[in-house]
Amino acid sequence: QKCLSLIKKTKFLNAYITVSEEVALKQAEESEKRYKNGQSLGDLDGIPVAVKDNFSTSGIETTCASNMLKGYIPPYNATVVQKLLDQGALLMGKTNLDEFAMGSGSTDGVFGPVKNPWSYSKQYREKRKQNLHSKNEDSDWLITGGSSGGSAAAVSAFTCYAALGSDTGGSTRNPAAHCGLVGFKPSYGLVSRHGLIPLVNSMDVPGILTRCVDDAAIVLGALAGPDPKDSTTVHDPINKPFMLPSLADVSKLCIGIPKEYLVPELSSEVRSLWSKAADLFESEGAKVLEVSLPHTSYSIVCYHVLCTSEVASNMARFDGLQYGHRCDIDVSTEAMYAATRREGFNDVVRGRILSGNFFLLKENYENYFVKAQKVRRLIANDFVNAFNSGVDVLLTPTTLSEAVPYLEFIKEDNRTRSAQDDIFTQAVNMAGLPAVSIPVALSNQGLPIGLQFIGRAFCDQQLLTVAKWFE
Ligand code: GLN
Repeated sequence: QKCLSLIKKTKFLNAYITVSEEVALKQAEESEKRYKNGQSLGDLDGIPVAVKDNFSTSGIETTCASNMLKGYIPPYNATVVQKLLDQGALLMGKTNLDEFAMGSGSTDGVFGPVKNPWSYSKQYREKRKQNLHSKNEDSDWLITGGSSGGSAAAVSAFTCYAALGSDTGGSTRNPAAHCGLVGFKPSYGLVSRHGLIPLVNSMDVPGILTRCVDDAAIVLGALAGPDPKDSTTVHDPINKPFMLPSLADVSKLCIGIPKEYLVPELSSEVRSLWSKAADLFESEGAKVLEVSLPHTSYSIVCYHVLCTSEVASNMARFDGLQYGHRCDIDVSTEAMYAATRREGFNDVVRGRILSGNFFLLKENYENYFVKAQKVRRLIANDFVNAFNSGVDVLLTPTTLSEAVPYLEFIKEDNRTRSAQDDIFTQAVNMAGLPAVSIPVALSNQGLPIGLQFIGRAFCDQQLLTVAKWFE
């Protein structure tokens, strides 16, 4: 009841696309019954959670924040949604995003942008009063980051305790950093993608947004495991229930600092927090080592060739015939396809489909798509080499800076800005590694800043243990 009333009070944040009040209340009632009858309880029994609107939910509209899927009601639950429910979680609703999870701001969905709850904190408001540009109260708010900005705003505004995001190039970690949350991207293959409407199949991972690392671990315990409906999942090396040690020993660890991540665009505040964090590990006896990930500078371009190519192929299913939007034009099948897709997709999605189809043309395939696959392997090998040199965990920034005001974000070309913002997060997806962003401090403006830990593939438990120690 408390969470539902907070959802209503914070409606202006635009965090939710659909609020599943009736479902949540019914689930709460059942959970209470289980508790009262002394039945065994799930790991998430009675816990309110929210789910990004690109996960299929049986009987509940799933839109991907796109005209194309407005009104679409899936007949089944994504595996991760089913697992949350099996553990007794209460589904509060479906959260807002950039259309089809393409973006880094949560400003690009058909239901409008998501507002960062921190825009309304006392400290930030007081600072902004001194700023001459902040006269227009209505538009003077910060972006959440994205594309899982609705999930981040929902957890940050206390309307639920955990939320699912998706993470293809940083979409869970980026909004977590901007909203003062833990944002965890598990190893590729640890958590099923069945029912997650794909952006880039070879990089997509369901992500977890929570207010502390322990909560993320509990949710991971509920979600991890092989799924016959997703052939890329592996046997689950995680013990359940998944608990992190309360006192970790970091003195034997080797923390790697990738030197290529010290980019000129990095804000001085993030930079100084990053170096303080490294000092803290050193003072505890850990070894801190500068390492090189030499192919970092190719990662954004490489990601975009691969992302748009997979997008071109994935989006082909939205043809106006099977499900989703269909236009009124019926002069020919081709005209119907074209008009449906023009009406259904925003310009970001259409732009990516066009680029992807260009890279996949017979005459371009070798030079773009195949070459990008090779570069992806080099990028992944950079991480392998760093870990083989003795590094246990890498420590990096999550984002270039704290959250920026909406008006500033949309001033520049959104797509260029989005691309730059993902510099610390995308390579991890291309390598399939686990990574977690945790909030470390408030900036001078009173806004949260996150740092990222990256672990070896399938060493998710070790990664979260280090993050918890640091938290
Ligand atoms: N910002 C990146 C993109 O637009 C990543 C998105 C994501 O992780 N879903 O592709």
